[in-house]
Amino acid sequence: MKEIRMVDLSGQYQKIKTEVDNAIQDVINSTAFINGPAVKEFQADLEKYLGVKHVIPCANGTDALQVSMMALGLKPGDEVITTSFTFIATAEVVALLGLVPIVVDVDPGTLNIDPEAIRRAITPKTKAIVPVHLFGQSADMEEILDIAREHNLFVIEDVCQAIGADYTFKDGSRKKVGTIGDVAGMSFFPSKNLGCFGDGGAIFTNDDKLAEQLRVVVNHGMTVRYYHDYVGVNSRLDSIQAAILKVKLKYLDDYISARQAAADYYDKAFKDHPKLKTPVRAANSTHVFHQYTLVTNDLDRDEMQKFLMAKKVPAMIYYPVAMHMQKAYQDPRYKEGDFPVTEHLTKHVISLPMHTELDEEQLEYITSSVLEFANR
Ligand SMILES: *Cc1c(COP(=O)(O)O)cnc(C)c1O
Repeated sequence: MKEIRMVDLSGQYQKIKTEVDNAIQDVINSTAFINGPAVKEFQADLEKYLGVKHVIPCANGTDALQVSMMALGLKPGDEVITTSFTFIATAEVVALLGLVPIVVDVDPGTLNIDPEAIRRAITPKTKAIVPVHLFGQSADMEEILDIAREHNLFVIEDVCQAIGADYTFKDGSRKKVGTIGDVAGMSFFPSKNLGCFGDGGAIFTNDDKLAEQLRVVVNHGMTVRYYHDYVGVNSRLDSIQAAILKVKLKYLDDYISARQAAADYYDKAFKDHPKLKTPVRAANSTHVFHQYTLVTNDLDRDEMQKFLMAKKVPAMIYYPVAMHMQKAYQDPRYKEGDFPVTEHLTKHVISLPMHTELDEEQLEYITSSVLEFANR
């Protein structure tokens, strides 16, 4: 059996090696390393794939979120509501800009931000909501859009883990996640569902004026060359990364299918197990399985991780600490016990290997190892 990895980038690369190598070599031959044609081409391909008017490439997913907040004109003291169960970047940029991160609990089924909790957290200072489409599945966007309209708030989607997922509205219409709110931040970190060979990111929006402002902010706040009307940042997607992403975008739907097939295998193996709760599939979203995360019940999660590691089955804890319990984000507003669903999850979740290259032999070994621990 091939070695089991949490993410197998090498196996994925081998299958498209010639195509990717040629794309990289083309950029090197052209020496258009910054803002070369590959960047524009990838941007156009991604706009088409997503059905969105504007893709603005940038350096990473964290920048994508930060630049979004800057371009929307959020000001120090403005409150931004986000989830207590996510990767730190979401709240980090809020804090860096002097905005106030207001965290709320998640839905125990989908693990995504709970719209009712958003409603309760709104104050006159609230300016934006940042739903994170966690682990590859859309947050409850229709509810969130209703709340945003009612209170005149911006919706900034953190789509880093969910590119390609489809959200279905009550009227039956469908949109790709990341094209639903005012703006969205995406990461092309290598292990993401669409990953490059280094750092990369992009911002999505359907708003022409906002797109213009986003392009100004990522480029040093520059409107006319060497005239800086805003304080901006320097955040670019390298041409080499764009060339790689242009190749990989063609395979994104195949990658998603491979992840879903692995998830189906896991689901079937753990179905109705009293100690292992499989991921809940939301009725209004497809799941692109950035992670396959079990919620354990009545078993020692940390022992389970050690047991699996000893059997050479990697397993990770995403995420072990709730946002409000992070040392850097201590806030007198919050204390232990405030977000019971998130706090329960941090102690009970475990994510299994999830990538595009898992074969049946590996899946069989992983599931039987998990069951061996759960049934003992
Ligand atoms: C990966 C990720 C980010 C940050 O992306 P980088 O490209 O590493 O800056 C932000 N939010 C979420 C939910 C992520 O998974």
